[in-house]
Order: sequence, then structure tokens, then C-alpha cells
Amino acid sequence: MSWNRYGIGFLVLVALVGCEKPVAERPMVEIHGRTMGTFYGVKVVGDFPGGQQALQTQVDSLLKHYNDEISTYDPNSSLSKFNQQQTSTPFPVSQEMADIVISALRVGQRTQGVLDVTVGPLVNLWGFGPDKRPVKTPTDEQITAARQRVGIQHLHVDVSADHAALRKDVPNIYVDLSTIGEGFGADKVAEFLESRGVHNYLVEIAGASRSRGVNAKGDPWKLAIQKPTDELDEVQAIIKPDGRAISTSGSYRNYYELDGKRYSHIIDPATGKPITHRLVSATVITPTSLEADGLDTALMVMGPEKAMAFAKQQRLAVYLVIKTDKGNFILAYNLVPHLMSVFNAKEYS
Ligand code: ADP
Ligand code: MG
Repeated sequence: MSWNRYGIGFLVLVALVGCEKPVAERPMVEIHGRTMGTFYGVKVVGDFPGGQQALQTQVDSLLKHYNDEISTYDPNSSLSKFNQQQTSTPFPVSQEMADIVISALRVGQRTQGVLDVTVGPLVNLWGFGPDKRPVKTPTDEQITAARQRVGIQHLHVDVSADHAALRKDVPNIYVDLSTIGEGFGADKVAEFLESRGVHNYLVEIAGASRSRGVNAKGDPWKLAIQKPTDELDEVQAIIKPDGRAISTSGSYRNYYELDGKRYSHIIDPATGKPITHRLVSATVITPTSLEADGLDTALMVMGPEKAMAFAKQQRLAVYLVIKTDKGNFILAYNLVPHLMSVFNAKEYS
């Protein structure tokens, strides 16, 4: 994910400010910060107990708590410790940690293994992990070796009323939850706000968002999907989430070229290789942002045709950008009228 001068990701979801006649605005408390290697923002319309300072402190500490559990950059996080333990012995975790892994496995099963949180060894092999970029593309033997330690069927969650544990039946499996971490975080911040009696809010963590109610003008939240270019403020679609979550995944920026071929950071677990199709961005609208954040990556793996077929079969609202020689082509699937207004849904350059 790369960031523009507004500190917002590319193909961003931005809260739209209406430019109609001035309306008396309600008070709004707004905070920004960093979490999970990216940026977040929260807007609360109305008062928050203790004001902006209290909101900032509480949201920061909540996100830090989850980051400390699931970060793969922090060798002391609960997930890193599980990854370091290279045995099949159950590894005790918090109920919340068990829940996030269960959710990750559920999205994995729903997409028939396309979203795979154990894909890390392949991500590293292709040069998108902490290891260095390869100077040569990996050999078939290397890919086969890495695939021995990839697959959600090797990851298990054992839960009872007072105990939760993760277990792997291949000792050197490596779990990376970063592809759903932002959505998970946005859900947790939304839950926290609801628990404080806040019902009008917008939470954004990188490409994942959760919102409810109205903005400072008293209008339902509207989010814009920008054109996938470097130009800012070019709106391609408007989403009125109406309480739903939205997440966008894209392969515009995170790729490299080797011997004239373009390699994306999205890996197809079925081949063990980076995707080569021309779907460059996927947006999904679902009840929770964890689901949306997992599914957007899964759609990116599937490619345009399979992603659209999956959306129809699963009755998912999606917005896909496909790169063609003539420019970008938009495909949208939308079940709820007024949820999405897509401009120039055919082609633009
Ligand atoms: P971004 O922060 O770039 O939007 P995404 O949420 O789309 O990221 O997740 C992309 C990351 O997910 C990749 O950098 C890679 O580490 C990981 N990844 C790649 N392929 C898969 C896959 N098939 N399933 C799960 N995670 C994947
Ligand atoms: Mg994602």
C-alpha cells in the first residue's frame, strides 16, 4: 500500500464532503494515527466522552493491543511466537486470537483456499516478504518445496469455554494475518465505539472501512472510490455503505518487473505463483470489514471472470477495475439500489 499526501491509500475510500448549500454542522471529533504498518482515521459525529484526547488514547491502545497479538513484524507478538514454535503442540492463545484465525479460515473455506493466510513462504519466495527481492524467478523445485508448508488445511483452532489454542499439523507452517488485519482492526474500533454509545461514526484503516449513521451534516456517509491513477480527487464511484463495511485491494503499486514480466504481491495458492491476469483492484461491500478485507484479496487472486462469477454466486456487492490496453475497464455487481453509483462503468483511459 502506498500513500499520497493526504495519508490515504491509493484507490482510496474517502469520505465525501458535500458542496451543496451550507448546513449547520454537528460537532465532530476526529483522530488519525498509525497502526499495523499503515494509517487510520476515525470520525465521531456528536460528543465522545472525554473528547478527542480520550478517543485518541483509547483507540490507539486498542489497536496496539491487537497489533501486539497479530503482527508478524514484532517477534514477540502472539502470532510470531506461534510461528516460531515449530511443532504440532497446541499453542495457547486468547479467545480473540482464536476468533480472528477462525474468521480467516472461514473466508479461506468460502473461497476454496484462494484466500490463504499460510501463503507466507510463497510470498517470501517471490520477494514480497521481509526477505530480499529475487534476482531470478524461483524454480519449480523451490515452488514445490514452499508449497509443502502452505495450506489452510494444516492450521487448526481448538476452542472450549475457557481455553483456546492454535495448532499446525505441518510444524513449519507460517501464518500471516496482515491481509485481514486492517478489516479486523476497523471492526474492533467500530465495536468499541458502539460500546461507548456512539452511533454516528466512520472508521478507516488503510483500504478497509466501517461506518454507521450520518456525517456532520446529518447526511448518510458517502465514500468515494477514486480513479486508479496518481491524480487525486478523480471520483470513479460513490458508495453509500448504510452501515456496511467496505474494503479495497489493489495490485497497482506493489509489484516488480524481472526480465520484462510483471510480478504482483498477490499469490495464487493453486499455482504457487503471482497472479498474471489484469484485474488490478477489487472493492467488496459486506457486513463486517474483516470479511470484506479477506474477500477483496481473494477476488484479486481469482481474476476478473472468476471474481464476477463468485460475486454473483455469493450475492456480494463488488467493484472491479480491469486494466486493458485501451485503459481501465470497470465491472460492478450491485444488489442493493443506491448502494453504489458508478460513473463511466464501461471504459476510461
Ligand atoms: P494491501 O495492504 O496491499 O492492500 P492486501 O490486503 O490486498 O494488501 O493483502 C496483500 C498481501 O496478502 C500480500 O502482500 C501478501 O503478503 C498476502 N497475500 C498474497 N496472496 C495471498 C493469498 N492468496 N491469500 C492471503 N494472503 C495473500
Ligand atoms: Mg485484503
